[in-house]
Formats: sequence, C-alpha cells, structure tokens
Amino acid sequence: MSNLHSKHIAVIGAGIVGLCVAERLMAEGHRVTLIEPGVPGGEQAASYGNGAFISPASVIPMSAPGLWRQVPKMLLDPTGALSVRLRDLPRLLPWLLAFLRAGNRPGKVARIAHDLNVLLKDAPARHADLAARSGQTALIRQSGLLYAFRDRAAWQAERRSWDLRADCGVVMEQCDAARLRDLAPDLAPEYGFGILISEGAHCADPGGYVAGLARHLVAAGAALRQDRVLGLDLAAGRLRGLRCEGGDLSCYRVVIAAGIASAPFAREAGDRLPLAAERGYHVEIADAPVRLDVPVMPQDGKMANVTTRGGLRAAGQVEIAAPDAPPNWARADVLLAHLERSYPALRGRAHDLRRWMGCRPSMPDGRPVIGRASGCADVIYAFGHGHIGLASAPATAEIVADLIAGRMPRREALPFSPARFGAPRGPT
Ligand SMILES: Cc1cc2nc3c(=O)[nH]c(=O)nc-3n(C[C@H](O)[C@H](O)[C@H](O)COP(=O)(O)OP(=O)(O)OC[C@H]3O[C@@H](n4cnc5c(N)ncnc54)[C@H](O)[C@@H]3O)c2cc1C
Repeated sequence: MSNLHSKHIAVIGAGIVGLCVAERLMAEGHRVTLIEPGVPGGEQAASYGNGAFISPASVIPMSAPGLWRQVPKMLLDPTGALSVRLRDLPRLLPWLLAFLRAGNRPGKVARIAHDLNVLLKDAPARHADLAARSGQTALIRQSGLLYAFRDRAAWQAERRSWDLRADCGVVMEQCDAARLRDLAPDLAPEYGFGILISEGAHCADPGGYVAGLARHLVAAGAALRQDRVLGLDLAAGRLRGLRCEGGDLSCYRVVIAAGIASAPFAREAGDRLPLAAERGYHVEIADAPVRLDVPVMPQDGKMANVTTRGGLRAAGQVEIAAPDAPPNWARADVLLAHLERSYPALRGRAHDLRRWMGCRPSMPDGRPVIGRASGCADVIYAFGHGHIGLASAPATAEIVADLIAGRMPRREALPFSPARFGAPRGPT
C-alpha cells in the first residue's frame, strides 16, 4: 500500500462517536473516509436505540460501593435491572471483577464523576451546535430532563450521588408534586418528587440523527465506504492502512470508533483493553396516547422515557453478556410493564410496539478510551463510551482532533488514556 494521501484519515465505524470525530476532522481540513458495514444509525449500532438523554447529570458510574453484594442477584435474576448472563460468566469474570473494583470506594466514584464531567458538562450545547451545522436543529431539544422519584425520601436515599452531581456543577431544580405534574402531566401520581436538569437535552430520533450526520458529511466531501474492516496494516510501528472485506485502504491515521467491535483492532495496535457489552433494550410504542415534552427517568426503573419520532420509548436495563448471545426479550417486557405503571393512560390497551436490543460498548470503570495506541501513534482510540456515548461524542471528537493535530487537548484527556489499564502487552 502506498502512503499517497498524507492527510487521509480513516474512521472505523459510523455510529455517533465515529461521525462526531469525522465531522471534527473534516472541519480541520482532513480528508476522511468512514468505513461502516451497516447503515449509519442503523439497528446494529448502540447509537440507534439509546435513551436519547444528553444529560450533564450522567456522571455517576454504574459501579458503586457495595455493588458486590448484589452479585448473587445479578447472576440469578436474568430480568433484574443489572444482570450477568450466567453462561458468559467465565469469559466475563475479569471484566466483572474490574467493574466491581472500579467504584468500590466513594472516592473512586467521585474521581470518575469528575472525569466524566469533562465530557458531559457542555454536551447539550455541543449537540445543539452540531445539529445546527448539519441541518438537524429540530432533532436536538433543549427542554430539560426530569428524574422522578416516588417521594423525597427516595431521592434522599440516593443523596450522595446527587451531591456529587452538584459538586460537578450540574444545575438541578427540586420539584414538588405540583411542579412534577406541570412538567409531566401523564406521569402516575405515585411519583411525588423530581429533579429537573434544566440544562439537559434529548435527541428526538437518535438513529435518524446519526443517519443525517452521515448524509451531511458525505455532502461535505467525506467518503462513506460500506465495508467491514478486518484489521490494521502496520509495519515497523507505523500505519500503512486497513484491510477490509472489500479490499485494502491506505490512510495515514485511523480512528477506531467501532463501538463493541473495537477491542480486536486495539489488540493489533498493542493494547489489550477490557471492553465488554452492557447490553440494553428498548420498547417503543408508536401509538402511545402519552407525549413527554420533557423526558423522564423514573428512578425506580432506571430507564429513559422519551418521546421520539417513532413513539414513546423506554430504554434501559443492563445485561452483561456476550454481544452476540440471543436477546432476552423478557427484559423488554420489564421495560413495557414499568412504562405502563408509570403512565396510567397506557394501561389496558394493545400497543403498536417495537423492541430492540443493543450493546453499550463499556469499559469497567465507566470511562471511554480516548487516546493513542501504545504500539502505533498513528492509531487513535475513541470507543468504550458505555452509558454516555450519545452525550459525550462531541467532546470525544474534540480530544481526538487535538491528538491528531499534536495539540495539547483542550479538555483533560489523561483519565481516558488506554494506559490506565496497565502496561501494553505488545501487538498480537
Ligand atoms: C439501552 C441503551 C440506552 C442508552 N441510553 C443512552 C442515553 O440516554 N444517552 C447516552 O449518551 N448514551 C446512551 N447509551 C449509550 C450510547 O448509545 C452508546 O455509548 C453510543 O451509541 C456508542 O456509540 P459508538 O459510535 O461508539 O458505537 P455504535 O453506535 O455501536 O457504532 C459503532 C459502529 O461501528 C460499526 N462497526 C462494527 N464493526 C465494524 C468493522 N469491523 N468495520 C467497520 N465498522 C464496524 C457498527 O456497524 C456500528 O455502526 C445507551 C445505550 C443503550 C444500549
């Protein structure tokens, strides 16, 4: 392969992360090829089916002190909000142990929250800008986000994590029952207390937004190649290009943004990184007689309720499992049952319902991996965004662009370095 194109950068994966990165690189004058085997924003991508929350409050990692006590339940209740697929346990055990360790002390949780805050604090504004640049203003709605509790005591029980959000500078309004009704008139009266994140935003069509970004970039000159990357072509510590199903591609830098499929590429570039699937589900009711102007996260269900262009969506559940294991649709039923409990108008009617399962690409410490490969400085990682990939994609793209330009990143990037997982083991 020749290195004819000195500024040609390939981006593996056209999910929200790959597209945000591509957009940023093009703005800096690079020639970009996106390689994606599916349709950008299609059902294969986590970016299609997520909860659509763009929340500065999403700084709290999943791993928490005392979580290990729930391990038996995680293993034995396959429809619990957080579970591990028993059959995959042997393979996932190292990841699970690292996950339990990552948040086993309050100080560690606080550190992660402050790190994630770097990516999330201005996420609504960054998406509003991106939507405007790509002609999709209507898809990013800055109408706030509501976290709903049965009562004030339920919120108090989670007080530590809400104080931590306040420490991070997240602006919050406490809502009594009357204010809650104003914001979400269809919500069941059993919810009597809420926290409004007035600066929060949501995306009215996550898959459509990604598809629209891809169209916008192609119109601006990006190449979108429908192909599957098989591996990196490396020689003497430099990148020569990519090996793809449809043939080779030469490039001088590559950004790995292939979501859950990213780890094998990182291994080739010298890093054995602990990426696992926290699988999640959604149900979407096309004909719901409920419209949420402000999306709601009922805290007893830990799921995002949001009105999208496709209908009323409930997205959530964490199932640590092999990415390609068959879906457990009973989990989608749990989401539906909770939705019906939360919105009385949904009860007792047949629904025009769609169900979806997808893989959150997750690192055990809840931080994405953004940084250079240890075995080849031409390879940049942008994956592992877990629960916050939609919200944190624009900030990720800024860091990647800074790294490629050789600038000191404008955002603190060290916490996201692949080096935090230990010494590199060398390409395999
Ligand atoms: C149920 C659920 C709810 C969620 N809710 C939220 C939320 O409310 N807010 C939020 O911020 N985040 C949320 N997330 C997380 C968010 O969706 C993900 O973090 C984010 O979509 C990850 O984006 P990505 O671009 O890294 O990966 P993906 O969207 O998965 O995209 C990766 C792309 O890479 C492509 N690819 C794979 N292999 C190859 C290959 N060999 N060659 C080329 N391309 C390849 C895939 O086809 C895919 O299109 C949620 C996730 C789930 C599952």
